[in-house]
Amino acid sequence: MKKNALSVTREDDFSAWYQQLIAEADLAEESGVRGCMVMRPWGYGIWERVQFLMDQRIKATGHENCYFPLFIPLSYFAKEAEHVDGFAKEMAVVTHHRLMKDDADGLVVDPEAKLEEPLVVRPTSETVIGTAFSRWVQSWRDLPVMINQWANVVRWEMRTRMFLRTSEFLWQEGHTAHATRDEAMEETLEILEMYRSFSEDVLAMPVVAGEKPENERFPGADATYSIEAMMQDGKALQAGTSHFLGQTFSKAQNIRYQDKEGQFQFAYTTSWGTSTRLIGGVIMTHGDDDGLRVPPLIAPYQVVIIPMLRDKPEDEAVLEFCSALTKQLSGLRAFDENVRVKLDKSGVKASNKRWAWVKKGAPIILEIGPRDVSEGNVSALRRDALYKDNGKLDSQILEKDVFAEQVPALLEEIQTKLHGEARQRLDANITRGLTDFADVEKFYKENKKYPGWLEVQWCRATGEELDQIEERLKKLKLTFRNVPTQAAAVDGDCIFTGKPAVERILIGKAY
Ligand code: AMP
Repeated sequence: MKKNALSVTREDDFSAWYQQLIAEADLAEESGVRGCMVMRPWGYGIWERVQFLMDQRIKATGHENCYFPLFIPLSYFAKEAEHVDGFAKEMAVVTHHRLMKDDADGLVVDPEAKLEEPLVVRPTSETVIGTAFSRWVQSWRDLPVMINQWANVVRWEMRTRMFLRTSEFLWQEGHTAHATRDEAMEETLEILEMYRSFSEDVLAMPVVAGEKPENERFPGADATYSIEAMMQDGKALQAGTSHFLGQTFSKAQNIRYQDKEGQFQFAYTTSWGTSTRLIGGVIMTHGDDDGLRVPPLIAPYQVVIIPMLRDKPEDEAVLEFCSALTKQLSGLRAFDENVRVKLDKSGVKASNKRWAWVKKGAPIILEIGPRDVSEGNVSALRRDALYKDNGKLDSQILEKDVFAEQVPALLEEIQTKLHGEARQRLDANITRGLTDFADVEKFYKENKKYPGWLEVQWCRATGEELDQIEERLKKLKLTFRNVPTQAAAVDGDCIFTGKPAVERILIGKAY
């Protein structure tokens, strides 16, 4: 039987597998501060690729980057009650600005150095950016304002998990202001579509885009839209959100403009974000029992070359061959960029290097020994298809130039294949057609391990009625995911209330 590179399999214990993968693939580690992680070069390198490719899309849709401070005066939050209520429980607050020595020569906070007004470490930046918008926007000519920032934010999360839910996380947050409701709604949905296509095309992570029910809205939003991805254990991951904020924040922060007739109007605003959580999604979408499989578009290195060095005179020729090959492959183009190639010259034993790169999930791994050099060949491993049917590693020996010619197409094929596998899984694990809530309970009892999601028809309940439904779902550890924007028409009654249904909604277990 073949032995996998990770000692815990997905089947055995998905959550232990996830933790082990993160450690073994050198993605991230604990930092000593609860809920805050150290991102190691391979993990951060993936984030940099996500940033680079999403930044292009953010700019292509008319947004510009800028930067706002980490600290937000407490009073800024007080202006919007719902928003402050939503975030109050998880805010880190700076109250002092100096330390002093105590009697035992230890460091303590200097009580004399208390700030006049406490500063909140931003959990999100609507309040400070809205304040700037109120200065920037005076006339209809100043609209729309469309900005984005790449930053870290802090939310004092109680239950943290690396990448998925951390107390400090890296993200982009877009903020826009528009003259009309329609324009702001169009922006909200355009970003939702950008997130959807980014997730599918770049992360190879299929998602369902849709609207959140009222109880899952961002604090202060009129409407929240999300993309929801399905992890390999059938749980949902909210991978990005786009909020239509209506005039809530513009009224709280006085973002007003004079229209063409000289009348004062409040602007309509939006905000939207995706975070390092996306990497958690990539892990739980593409990881296998040998570690991560990074989609080529976001792989820091797409091809890794491992010279099989043996401390012998032939080493020199091997290294020379590998350097030339690195140069040759780096000159190739795939996905409209140069191929990213790493020559791993580190002193680690070659077979250990192979498994290290397998666990990290580099898409193509080349092993080059003296025999390959003398024959002008490469031995290539595809991370997405590591094994032959007999369980042995499927190492392909190819003439160097023949291989090189295939690299761009191969990378594109791997990207497509990873997406296809994940798409199939998502489509196969949404169950439709249940019309009775008792069947929902039964369904989740009978399908404990991989239940996936249910798509049911409902009445778009709000207020107390929605709270009651939420309670019923909570007992089964279920939550609403979203109302897919692309769903079939309704043809029945609400599964919760028996009233006529108005839309279809997804429910499932979630991270
Ligand atoms: P929000 O501003 O709450 O809409 O958050 C925007 C996005 O950031 C969410 O859709 C998540 O993907 C992500 N996110 C929210 N909280 C966290 C967290 N604690 N850790 C990592 N990512 C998060």
